[in-house]
Amino acid sequence: MTTFSDLNTLDAIAFVAALDGIYEHSPWIAQRAAGRRPFASLAALKLALQEVVDAAHEDERLALLRAHPELAGKAAIAGELTAESTGEQAASGLNLCSAEEYAALQRLNAAYNGKFGFPFILAVKGPAGRGLTRTAVIDTFARRLKHARADELAEALRQVHRIAEIRLNALLGVTPGMGAQVMEWADVIGAWSDADAGLTCAYLTPAHRRTAAQIAAWMRDAGMETHIDAVGNVVGRYAARDPSAKTLVTGSHYDTVRNGGKYDGRLGILLPIALVRALHERGERLPYHLDVVGFAEEEGVRFRSTFLGSGALTGSFDLGKLDTLDDEGVSMRQALLDAGHDPAAIPSIARRREDLLGFVEVHIEQGPVLLQRGLPVGVVTAIAGSSRYLVELAGVASHAGTTPMGMRRDAAAAAAEIVLLVEARCSGVAALVGTVGQLAVPGGSVNVIPGACTLSLDIRAADDAVRLAAVDEILAGISAICARRGIEEKLWKIVEAEAAPCAPRLMDVLGAAVERAGVPRFDLLSGAGHDAMEMARITDVAMLFTRCGNGGISHNPLETMTADDAELAGQVLLDFLRGLGRDA
Ligand SMILES: [Zn+2]
Repeated sequence: MTTFSDLNTLDAIAFVAALDGIYEHSPWIAQRAAGRRPFASLAALKLALQEVVDAAHEDERLALLRAHPELAGKAAIAGELTAESTGEQAASGLNLCSAEEYAALQRLNAAYNGKFGFPFILAVKGPAGRGLTRTAVIDTFARRLKHARADELAEALRQVHRIAEIRLNALLGVTPGMGAQVMEWADVIGAWSDADAGLTCAYLTPAHRRTAAQIAAWMRDAGMETHIDAVGNVVGRYAARDPSAKTLVTGSHYDTVRNGGKYDGRLGILLPIALVRALHERGERLPYHLDVVGFAEEEGVRFRSTFLGSGALTGSFDLGKLDTLDDEGVSMRQALLDAGHDPAAIPSIARRREDLLGFVEVHIEQGPVLLQRGLPVGVVTAIAGSSRYLVELAGVASHAGTTPMGMRRDAAAAAAEIVLLVEARCSGVAALVGTVGQLAVPGGSVNVIPGACTLSLDIRAADDAVRLAAVDEILAGISAICARRGIEEKLWKIVEAEAAPCAPRLMDVLGAAVERAGVPRFDLLSGAGHDAMEMARITDVAMLFTRCGNGGISHNPLETMTADDAELAGQVLLDFLRGLGRDA
């Protein structure tokens, strides 16, 4: 068996020979990486191989893609594949296709090759390395066939690197055990949904309560003192030997959006549980209490208010919200009582600032930045602040055929100008984004000039001054557009959240841990809100983002990540926890 240290010490020819088959019929990649040894870690080796491909000529990258066999193609049938490809295709059962599946794959192969000029490449061993089903392979194939060429070229290369990662693991006998455990747990609770299809886990529903009980059970098995608090947060403590030690809190939310992804939030709960289990098995204690919290509610699906779980920890849970009704007319208070909780006890959950060392949250990025940079993890600099408004425009509804163009007061045309204004004002400014996500002509007809139009505004930035300046200009612009067009406007501010900067001290401990894992530190802004944003009210916060596959899509069943990235994030988090122990 080849070891990682062998790879660093073999002569260049033997190094290339050892990596034969990692990249299909493309020994030039190992040849060019040989001179960059020694590598600090397996992660560093993978990145170096990836960088060689990035730096290669475009024709070489195309040749690398074309060196791959078609899935269940003629070469596979004729037994002409490399040993690696034969094994991988068999792991997905592609050698056992029905006649219909085989025909579907041949049609897809032909259409794909015709559109892109290279074969369809997919790491058929999948995100956890256990093998995708044939249905999943065919669905992915059909979905990717619709991509634009540049996007698909990038995705095909990422799949090539993922295949290389799996093959390197096999070569070196490495298994991302903690990462695979987290993926498996995410699959278990990811199957418990409020809906028949897809994952929906809204606050205090039966699926939500079952999920909480399971997370609590895993925490207990991992060696934590565990309870579910009055708001439904699952809290596990891995106690320090000194009872008077301070507490570091880590965690994220276990509720989901409708038809969401199974790693959003949950990764940040399950990864620390797996990590504590490993610490507990080794008998290793930290010099502070580590509290892993599965926050009951972050997404705002059932009662339209967000951060109920972390808000209870920071003492900002508004008891007035207990009377809020869900769509079925059930109050939050009743839902809490039905779940066996005591709503009156919620204020007592609040943590005291002086007891806390900080809060760290691991979360899937929910965007494409790390994916496009080929990096498994990144250090979050700040969570963007946001301003949201609802806008109602009132014009005059009149006949589409008889009202001359110059005499119209068209509310939708004004809205269209507003959409473009938001886009123009927020383009080209670093760390500022603006979106009109809702746009409607209530009661509109084909043959009537829109007399009313409603739209939403969502403006976010890392810097509050940048955001507020953009909001001011956009609101002034809306007034000007409406005045010019004879439209009456009404505005409601529905959200005003300040940016939450991460603590430089914690970012540096996290960044040093990333570098020790052999991965360059890369800092990025979180455009999405997270529990860390709420926790920043009472303590220093840090966040580690993990790479989000499938183009960075989240809040969607297609959200995905790999066991290897989860493993690396676990390694970084453990190093962070130990580093903090040395500092504390
Ligand atoms: Zn989330």
